[in-house]
Amino acid sequence: MKDFDTIVVGAGVSGLTAARFLAQAGHSVVVLEARDRIGGRTWTERSDGIISDRGASWIHGIDDNPLTDVVRGFGMRTVEFTVGSYQPDGRPIAYYSPTGERLSDAEIQEFADDVRAFDRHLATTVGASELGSSYEDAIDATLAAIGWDADRAARVREFVLHRSEEQYGVRAGLLDAHGLDDDTVEGDEVVFPDGFDRLATNLATGLDVRLEHEVTSIAWSAAGATVSSTQGTFTATQVVVTVPIGVLKSGDLSFDPALPEWLTGAIAGFEMNNFEKVFLRFPTKFWDDDVYAIRQQGAAGEWWHSWYDLTDLHGVPTLLTFAAGPSGVETREWRDDQIAESVLDALRGLYGERVETPSQVLVTRWKDDPYSHGSYAYMKPGSTPEDHDLLATPVDGVLHFAGEATWTDDPATVTAALRSGHRAAQNILGRDLPFDGLTDPL
Ligand SMILES: Cc1cc2nc3c(=O)[nH]c(=O)nc-3n(C[C@H](O)[C@H](O)[C@H](O)COP(=O)(O)OP(=O)(O)OC[C@H]3O[C@@H](n4cnc5c(N)ncnc54)[C@H](O)[C@@H]3O)c2cc1C
Repeated sequence: MKDFDTIVVGAGVSGLTAARFLAQAGHSVVVLEARDRIGGRTWTERSDGIISDRGASWIHGIDDNPLTDVVRGFGMRTVEFTVGSYQPDGRPIAYYSPTGERLSDAEIQEFADDVRAFDRHLATTVGASELGSSYEDAIDATLAAIGWDADRAARVREFVLHRSEEQYGVRAGLLDAHGLDDDTVEGDEVVFPDGFDRLATNLATGLDVRLEHEVTSIAWSAAGATVSSTQGTFTATQVVVTVPIGVLKSGDLSFDPALPEWLTGAIAGFEMNNFEKVFLRFPTKFWDDDVYAIRQQGAAGEWWHSWYDLTDLHGVPTLLTFAAGPSGVETREWRDDQIAESVLDALRGLYGERVETPSQVLVTRWKDDPYSHGSYAYMKPGSTPEDHDLLATPVDGVLHFAGEATWTDDPATVTAALRSGHRAAQNILGRDLPFDGLTDPL
């Protein structure tokens, strides 16, 4: 007799979704979570009464997205903020030229048209790219084919390099050419004024979630599994493993017998990124009015090039920027005040003496988090988009992997986590489950 039908490892969105669907179907389920909180990479800071999402902020496209229905079903408030996918335009953005002059609307339009024209060519280049080539290879091949003059090409090149850094937290040379294939946004983007963590709180309501239970090993066979944690050992007929790729690669969680090679091979094709949020709050708002974001072009924006205005969302003058890719790698050992000073220096290039001393600085440290080792996974050159789904192939009907990295169409997102948890529950139950039941009380 097993302790549970299913043990879910990890109380992030994927694990809680799988557990909720299974519990609704009458399964006995326990969720074992290493941290002292639920939510995983959705984590909301509420110090000083201000709500800041340290992890995910956006639904990247609310159309045809089950996450939209789920958050509505739970009654979570959202606010439109369609600037979370490194769009060149679409919403007001204050662009500054390499020498610090603000671009006119016509100049922005011209630049955004260049980015769109480039992207059309890029899709062809990526489609024809050889296995193992990088996103940067595809960028350079595309620019060579287009043949723009040096300055025009440089502006677009830096933009798409920064897009790779902000979207995937990695330098384009380290990302597979197909690494941004999923990067499409259907409809508006929204954020959560009451915090994204409400999703996990709602999903977990009524579930048996055991915090501070770090799973250290899983012994498995076709007959079931024994899961050892820092607070005891549990048995179950099947296990849903939702730990991030970084944990799977760390060796901190062992499998006995070892995972099959087709699976470890697919895991090896991914890497956790360097992507940290830097929130800066100020006594007054000294930057441009009525814009969603501020962008610096040229060498001055090599690290700090994009600032998102969260003033309306947070109720105090706030800018958000990202230490993403190279800047994330380089500043990893820096103190918060050093990072803030570097960001302020860049802002002084735009606003001079008007730049104020921040009243509060918040820097995330996902790369040093032992339960994620980064913010989300990216495809290393040589991996293929389908490797995401391969990760979710059930092993002997007993081990089911879920989590953002296991979803091909829209990896690295909360949507992916939700969908992957749903798929794991369907695989275990052997039938389709409508998403709209997820918000029903347990
Ligand atoms: C800074 C940042 C910004 C982001 N921005 C966005 C965004 O705007 N929009 C978006 O859609 N997505 C965004 N994401 C990505 C999104 O947060 C993730 O894709 C999603 O939350 C992952 O959910 P998950 O369930 O797959 O993994 P997780 O949330 O990581 O859940 C896995 C759980 O497993 C636990 N765990 C790990 N090891 C063990 C162990 N040994 N034993 C037991 N438990 C363990 C972890 O503590 C964690 O709670 C962002 C992420 C970060 C970090």
